[in-house]
Amino acid sequence: MSAQQNVPPNVTVTVIGLGQMGAALAGAFLTAGHRVTVWNRTPEKAGPLVARGAVRAASVAEAVAAGDVVVVCVLDYAAVRELLAPVAEALRGKVLVNLTSGSPEQAREEAGWAGERGIAYLDGAVMTTPPGVGDSANMILYSGAPEALAAHRDVLAVLGDPVDLGPDAGLASLYDSGLLGLMWSVFGGWLHGTALTGADGVAAKDFAALANRWLRTVSWFITGYAEQIDAGEYPGDDATIDVQVAAIGHLLHAARARGVDNRLPELHLALMRGAAEAGHGGDSYARLIDAFRAPRG
Ligand code: NAP
Repeated sequence: MSAQQNVPPNVTVTVIGLGQMGAALAGAFLTAGHRVTVWNRTPEKAGPLVARGAVRAASVAEAVAAGDVVVVCVLDYAAVRELLAPVAEALRGKVLVNLTSGSPEQAREEAGWAGERGIAYLDGAVMTTPPGVGDSANMILYSGAPEALAAHRDVLAVLGDPVDLGPDAGLASLYDSGLLGLMWSVFGGWLHGTALTGADGVAAKDFAALANRWLRTVSWFITGYAEQIDAGEYPGDDATIDVQVAAIGHLLHAARARGVDNRLPELHLALMRGAAEAGHGGDSYARLIDAFRAPRG
C-alpha cells in the first residue's frame, strides 16, 4: 500500500545523501507532492530526481537553507557530522531528521550536538530496503524531539508508518539493532530449513509458503513469552526446554543425514542444554533470556 499521497506541498523538504536509500526517500517526498531540494557528494546521482522535479543544491549550505525539514541519509555518523558541522548555524530552528544507521550512543551524541545548537533533532531507522520506502506497511522508527515528530508527522508519513519511540534519541538505533538481529536469526533458520527440505527436492518457494505461515504462529509465541520475561516467570505449561532439546535432536539428525551445515541449530542446542543443566529444563523457552542477558553485578 502506498503511504499518504498528494500532501499539500507547504512544507519544504531537503534530502542530503542520495545513495540507494536517500534517493528512495527523496523520491517518496516527490511522489507525495512536496517541494524537494537534494544534495549529494557525487552530484550526478541527483539527475533522476531533478528530472522528477527536485531542485539540485550546489552545496550543503544551500540545501539546508531550502528545507524546513532536513533529512540526512549517508553512510555513517562520521559523514553526517562532517557534512553538517559547517552549517550548524543554518540548521538552527529547523528539524533535522537523521536516517543514517548508527549506534544508540552515536544517536545520543548527535542529539546533544544538535540540542546545543538549537536544532530539533529526530533520529530515525528505516525498517525496509529502498523499494519498500513509501509503503505504509513498513515502519520508520523515530526517537528524539517528540514535538518535531508531532509537527511533521504527515510529511514523514509519506516514507512509511512513523513509529514514535519517545524523547531518548538513542532508542531508534537500539530498536533497529535488535530488530535486525531478529531478522538475521530468522533468515538463518529459514535458510537452514530451505537447505534441509531442498536436499529432498522441495523448492525454496514451497518451503517459504509454509515458513511464512509458521512465522505467524511463532509471532504468537513471542507475544506470550515476552509477558513471561517481563514477569520473570517461565512456566513450562506449553512446551518445556527438555521437550525442545529432544525435538532439536530430530532436526540435527535429519540435517546431518543430508550433509546440511548444522552450526546454527547446534548453537540453539547448546543454549537449551545450558538452561537444562542449570535446572530449568521444565521451564518455557523464554527462560533462555538468562543466556543472553549481561550477568548481574
Ligand atoms: P549507499 O547507496 O552506499 O549510499 C551512501 C551515501 O552516503 C551516498 O550518498 C554517499 O555519497 C554518501 N556518503 C558516504 N560517505 C560520505 C561522506 N564522507 N560525505 C558525504 N557523503 C557521503 O548506502 P545506502 O544504502 O543509501 O545507505 C545509507 C544509509 O541508510 C546507511 O546508514 C544505511 O545503513 C542506511 N540504511 C540503508 C538501508 C538499505 O536497505 N539500503 C536500509 C536501512 C538503512 P556518494 O554518492 O558521493 O558516494
